[in-house]
Amino acid sequence: QKYVYAFSEGRADMKSLLGGKGANLAEMTNIGLPVPPGFTITTEACKEFYIAGRKFPEGLEQELETKVDWLEQTLNKKFGDPNGPLLVSVRSGAVISMPGMMDTVLNLGLNDQTVIGLATSSGNARWAYDCYRRFIQMFGNVVLDIEHHKFEGILEEQKHKRNVQFDNQLTSEDWQEVIGKYKAIVQKETGREFPQDPKEQLHKAIFAVFNSWENDRAIVYRKIHKISDDLGTAVNVQAMVFGNMGDDCGTGVAFTRNPSTGEKLLYGEFLTNAQGEDVVAGIRTPQPIAKLADEMPDVYQQFARTCTLLENHYKDMQDIEFTIERNKLWMLQTRNGKRTAQAAIRIAVEMVEEGIIDKEMAINRVDPNQLDQLLHRRIDPNAKLEVVAKGLPASPGSASGAVVFNADLAEKLNKQGQKVILVGTETTPDDIHGMVAAQGILTSRGGMTSHAAVVARGMGKPCVCGCEAIRIDSENKQFFVGNITVKNGDIVSIDGSTGDVILGEVPMIEPDLSAEFLKLLQWADNIRTLEVRANADTPEDAAKAREFGAQGIGLTRTEHMFMALDRLPIVQEMILANDIEERAAALAKLLPMQEGDFYGILKAMEGLPVCIRLLDPPLHEFLPNAEELAVEITQLKLTNGEPAKIQQKEDLLRKVRSLSEFNPMLGHRGCRLGITWPEVYAMQARAIFQATARLVKEDCKIDPEVEIPLVIELKELAYLRKLVEDVAEEVKKETGVDFHYSVGTMIEIPRAALLADEIASQAEFFSFGTNDLTQTTLGFSRDDAEGKFMQPYIEKKILNDNPFIVLDRKGVGKLMQWTVENARRVKPDLLIGICGEHGGEPSSVEFCHMIGLNYVSCSPYRVPIARLAAAQAAV
Ligand code: PEP
Ligand code: MG
Repeated sequence: QKYVYAFSEGRADMKSLLGGKGANLAEMTNIGLPVPPGFTITTEACKEFYIAGRKFPEGLEQELETKVDWLEQTLNKKFGDPNGPLLVSVRSGAVISMPGMMDTVLNLGLNDQTVIGLATSSGNARWAYDCYRRFIQMFGNVVLDIEHHKFEGILEEQKHKRNVQFDNQLTSEDWQEVIGKYKAIVQKETGREFPQDPKEQLHKAIFAVFNSWENDRAIVYRKIHKISDDLGTAVNVQAMVFGNMGDDCGTGVAFTRNPSTGEKLLYGEFLTNAQGEDVVAGIRTPQPIAKLADEMPDVYQQFARTCTLLENHYKDMQDIEFTIERNKLWMLQTRNGKRTAQAAIRIAVEMVEEGIIDKEMAINRVDPNQLDQLLHRRIDPNAKLEVVAKGLPASPGSASGAVVFNADLAEKLNKQGQKVILVGTETTPDDIHGMVAAQGILTSRGGMTSHAAVVARGMGKPCVCGCEAIRIDSENKQFFVGNITVKNGDIVSIDGSTGDVILGEVPMIEPDLSAEFLKLLQWADNIRTLEVRANADTPEDAAKAREFGAQGIGLTRTEHMFMALDRLPIVQEMILANDIEERAAALAKLLPMQEGDFYGILKAMEGLPVCIRLLDPPLHEFLPNAEELAVEITQLKLTNGEPAKIQQKEDLLRKVRSLSEFNPMLGHRGCRLGITWPEVYAMQARAIFQATARLVKEDCKIDPEVEIPLVIELKELAYLRKLVEDVAEEVKKETGVDFHYSVGTMIEIPRAALLADEIASQAEFFSFGTNDLTQTTLGFSRDDAEGKFMQPYIEKKILNDNPFIVLDRKGVGKLMQWTVENARRVKPDLLIGICGEHGGEPSSVEFCHMIGLNYVSCSPYRVPIARLAAAQAAV
């Protein structure tokens, strides 16, 4: 087992063994760039270290000895030799970068003797003693566990005593005084003197870096970023170069392209006469990298050439750390740079045009999840924010507005030109008009598939939901968060991409679909095989979806049409009808409205398929709330209200109660409504076909798909299909127009999935309703799980992800795969898609591609994301 690799022995593709930094230092060394020599202790050694109970694995000491000898010979310097002391840095280097989470020690090798040698040989005593005090401070903190502030206190005292502001105003004598005090602290805190033997220093520093893999910061960081705890860190030991020896020295960090805009221009900062930590610590303000061209033109030219070389070599934008020692450039690190979505797109597209990468690689370079940033208004990333609470990031984008607690008021204020944020414990279908009017929605309850979340995403409106930190007092029109009270009319801002709730107005940035973005999506379209449709309920949403590149509508939820304020009373009439005649009367009023709805959507999507789902939701969603009704009745009685009116309300209450269910999600909904009240589905089918006939007469090419929800059984579907077909025949006869349509079903109950082969015989298409399929497969309520118990399931690693967001491939996915295989066995050309929320989530889109679906369907604003994700799945 080899535990230690000289940089010249490694390569960029040995990342898992050498860590990111080690692998890239090796790569740079081997392409001949100026890298201070050194070696890397492998992540394997770190893993063995933990297996052995925090002990160096056998053989490591020996290898270290050999490599140190080699380093001494290479540099013609020696550990502990005052005439030419070897000084090194010891740095962590994880496989996946964890910036600042683990430990680093610089200037190792200094002691009371070597510092004198260094001072003499460099002719710069001030610098030599500065290095030594830095070393004691860092080593004392990182290796010996002495709190940072104990050292800082001494430094501050010294500056105060000398009446100076900056470290670099202190003299050699000052530093010697500081060193004496630092050493005294070490003696006091550890009971022994500061270690003078460089080999002991090295041993201890490596030990500390291994240990830092398990420090609290690192553990938390890994948890947040889903990095495995088993990877371990490598340790890089590298000869020191010094950026703090004088004005012909410096240190800096640069990106080969602008990481926020993507512009092809060196971007970064440097500090003359400084060591790397000074840049990070913000002790002095660094200068823009362009200034280096003025100050050290030769070095700048060399640096710029090196940047180009590295970019061409890695075929990606690089994030580079460098040091200049007496006019000589040294490269200390390179890695693929982090960037905004905007920059990612521009860089990927321009690199294709520059011939550095191909289109497939460009497509893989952009994280589809990041695109959300570009498709919505968002908070200026440079703004200072006062975040007072955090909820679920339910629908991306940001908004500011006056707090209102009531949908009617939201609508009224909006008409007066005011921007409002609708706040409530949750939203119900009654609030739709308020949601339309609001800039954003904030709820204290409900999960990522709650009413507020789904509707907001469909509208492309920012929404933060399940924000349990806020306590709503709707009676007095206010909410509390911590000890702050936010009143009706106060301005708040929400960030639906992070879940942040912020007091006051904040500066926003408008979305921009740049030319590069459109080009990248075009390339994606040429590569992907999965079609992308949108979920849309209105002609406006449909038009938006088309603009974003949707190839059809995968789901029109007709219940949203029933929720409009002017229709709700008629819908209630229909539900509360005492007999068939009464219901027929209500349905007759709804028919022309529905026909108009379908006409609008079908026309907006001319030439493309439109899947219209017949009524689905539990009936109670359309009815007044029983408790509120009871309160109203009591109030009427107390105020001697009109007896007839009281009677009417009491009748209503009785009816509402009789329709109430313990488990509405498993109750009288979906096609069960079509079975019990066929006339409702017949009305909807008629509306679809009358709209179709009109459009065909107008020479429009249209392709309606009639979808039956929540099916469990072949006979159920056969019954409803017949009903739809009969209506179609009637309309054809009545209008004299022949038209094409298809009938299919949603697969959203495990029984339907299991019986897919039977059910396929009665369907021309299937669409996975993975919101309900997840709910019914896991037995997790889609409205409650997130707020109540999802978090512990994820924290305890029982589930990797929230299954309502990222498709549960293992369980729900298995049912989907079974469905596809068995249905296609009997009907090879069956059209199969997905229209649950997962249809716009990149990893779920990949799975849909893998199991051979024809399309995914998602909210209009996620269409570009799905287009890119589908292309990534195909390359
Ligand atoms: C589903 O269940 O996934 C679905 C699309 O239907 P809804 O969300 O309307 O229940
Ligand atoms: Mg459903």
